[in-house]
Amino acid sequence: MRAPQLFIVREGFQGWYEDVLANHPEEAQQLVARILADTTADEHGCLVTPTTQPRKVRFRGGQDRAYRFVFCVTTGLAATRDQIVRHRCHDRRCVNPRHLELGDRLDNLRDERERRANGVDYAML
Ligand SMILES: [Zn+2]
Repeated sequence: MRAPQLFIVREGFQGWYEDVLANHPEEAQQLVARILADTTADEHGCLVTPTTQPRKVRFRGGQDRAYRFVFCVTTGLAATRDQIVRHRCHDRRCVNPRHLELGDRLDNLRDERERRANGVDYAML
């Protein structure tokens, strides 16, 4: 017999997002609203959490980074562990849904190389 609780604490576990989106959408939206309210807007439109690392959230037996939670709940996507939520602004504490998009690990590496070479083009956000 499987022990699902062993898996549910793993970050970004897809079954957890499926449950959240299917069965607790209003509660999840309320948590997203609280996450967004507890941020500081900077001059680039980033909504930055008051944390030194990307903020984490717990919800209904699971936990994930706040920006992934915001992205999944606002887009209705149950991200798998292989799907990366990218920051177009390169600030991993930012939870602005408009600065987040889905990618893979290669996209993430490419982003990082581009940022080192050219900096961030805030006009693109
Ligand atoms: Zn941002």
